[in-house]
Amino acid sequence: MRAIICGAGISGLTAAWWLARDGWDVIVLERAHGLREEGYMIDFFGTGFDVARHMGLLGRLREVAYHVPEVIWIDGQGRREASISYDRLAKAMGGKLLSLMRGDLERQLFEFLPASIDMRYGAMLTGIDNRTDGVTVTLADGTRLEADLLVGADGIHSIVREKAFGPQTQFFRDLGYQTAAFIYSDDATRRELNGEFKLVSVPGRTIGLYGLRDGRVASFFVHKTDRKDLPQNPAAELQCVYGGLGWHVPTALEKARNAGSIYYDHVAQIELPRWYSNRVVLIGDACAAVSLLAGQGASLGMGMAYELAAQLRKHKSVAKALARYERAMQRPLRRKQKSGRDTAAQLVPATPFQLRLRNLVLALVKVPGVFPLLSPIFLAGTKSLID
Ligand SMILES: Cc1cc2nc3c(=O)[nH]c(=O)nc-3n(C[C@H](O)[C@H](O)[C@H](O)COP(=O)(O)OP(=O)(O)OC[C@H]3O[C@@H](n4cnc5c(N)ncnc54)[C@H](O)[C@@H]3O)c2cc1C
Repeated sequence: MRAIICGAGISGLTAAWWLARDGWDVIVLERAHGLREEGYMIDFFGTGFDVARHMGLLGRLREVAYHVPEVIWIDGQGRREASISYDRLAKAMGGKLLSLMRGDLERQLFEFLPASIDMRYGAMLTGIDNRTDGVTVTLADGTRLEADLLVGADGIHSIVREKAFGPQTQFFRDLGYQTAAFIYSDDATRRELNGEFKLVSVPGRTIGLYGLRDGRVASFFVHKTDRKDLPQNPAAELQCVYGGLGWHVPTALEKARNAGSIYYDHVAQIELPRWYSNRVVLIGDACAAVSLLAGQGASLGMGMAYELAAQLRKHKSVAKALARYERAMQRPLRRKQKSGRDTAAQLVPATPFQLRLRNLVLALVKVPGVFPLLSPIFLAGTKSLID
């Protein structure tokens, strides 16, 4: 049996590994021309952690993980306002929490793939002929490929979804925020961070900065906005939105102007009633993006890939396997999406009152005996979907 996977992000690479392990002949199509380092620092726990353990990948991930002892929130001038001990959170999760750069996770998954997988970078899917007994895929260069199954792992703006289920607008829930991430070099910022993860938090805007082991700085930005389109010039938009802030923010904005590439997107969720049609199935952000407000997109994409492979292993009939996969994952993913929407105000407080409330809760956590009482709130939604 042959599977074509469209998208070599976290979900697609995980699906490729599991399907190849089960004897599928796997082709992966990726429109980018190689691995990308872009992206933010991921809190890797729960579902993704368990999938990585089943794959035997945890050792490699631990090697590239960062030790973030605590996360510190500061105001627009760099004054400390609140903090939380990550070591404490990790302990409460039984040690099952890693801080990983998205690009490092992608690279580790890629390097873990068996040589039998046909990886095609620079290959953009443009067309699908989806039948009950197979699927024909067309690429931008006119190449046509036949397969028994097409897995759409092509992210929140999925072309596979558009071709098989309809236009994005039907399934796209804009949460009213936009986000950006890029990596840059600046010695002064790095010295100031000194191994700490700092978040500048002012009403409606949050910026996270972290010093990487190679001497560079990883940054991410998230802000509330009424804008429905994406800016033509992300660096200029960042300057416009974050321009008045102090501390090391002006340097970050200056660096954005010369950054090779900036990840910039809506903070949005994808909800669609069916995740499969004939021989096309969706995984990851393509069918159930939870958004960075829910904070587990990569982990959940790995969980969906794992479950899809498990159902295909269990059932001879592809149609039955796809139905079982959808049934197993759709409801839990909707719950994760809802909790992401509910907790948005904690990640990006919109008003000075919400900001003070968040800081008060974080201060309370430090009072002896309070953390165990509040830990159900911090650990809500972290349970693995696959174990
Ligand atoms: C470079 C990059 C940086 C990111 N940075 C952030 C970040 O800073 N913050 C955040 O919240 N989320 C970020 N994300 C999204 C985050 O990685 C995902 O939410 C999560 O990992 C689930 O991933 P996924 O594999 O389902 O989808 P994605 O990670 O979106 O992967 C989809 C893949 O499909 C490829 N693709 C799309 N269309 C086609 C096509 N027609 N043909 C072939 N290939 C196609 C894309 O190039 C991409 O590699 C980033 C994604 C990428 C690709």
